[in-house]
Amino acid sequence: MDTSPPDPQLSALYQELILDHYRRPRNKGALDDATHSVSLNNPLCGDEIDLQLRVDGEVIREARFIGRGCSISQAAASMMTQLLKDRSIPQALALADRMSAMMRGDQAAAQDKTLGDLRALAGVSKFPVRIKCALLPWNALTDALKG
Ligand code: ZN
Repeated sequence: MDTSPPDPQLSALYQELILDHYRRPRNKGALDDATHSVSLNNPLCGDEIDLQLRVDGEVIREARFIGRGCSISQAAASMMTQLLKDRSIPQALALADRMSAMMRGDQAAAQDKTLGDLRALAGVSKFPVRIKCALLPWNALTDALKG
């Protein structure tokens, strides 16, 4: 397991936030009454995410994940699940688009408050190898919602 801190070029404040989510992941663990479940891995880095959602009509009521891997992938999953509760499916897919725009280096997306703690990952866009880590949970989300 990669326990090294995120890249030193990320700001110290953001690094701390990423490590906080990595060490104390939010919404980690199985969801008993999941309606959607998707497992994805990123073989380049060895990251694994099993995303579980409880969707009621058009609304995500609960989002949890099980996973292991580098700090960026696990922090991204933790930060993402924080944002999903009580979002509609179109809202969640719009967030996924915003996140991938941020990973392409879009500055407006990097400052979009709707991305919450995920903005700490904006600097990852400069490191192509790590972009797959940050987007892994989001790819699981779009797979789950687009089925
Ligand atoms: Zn990774």
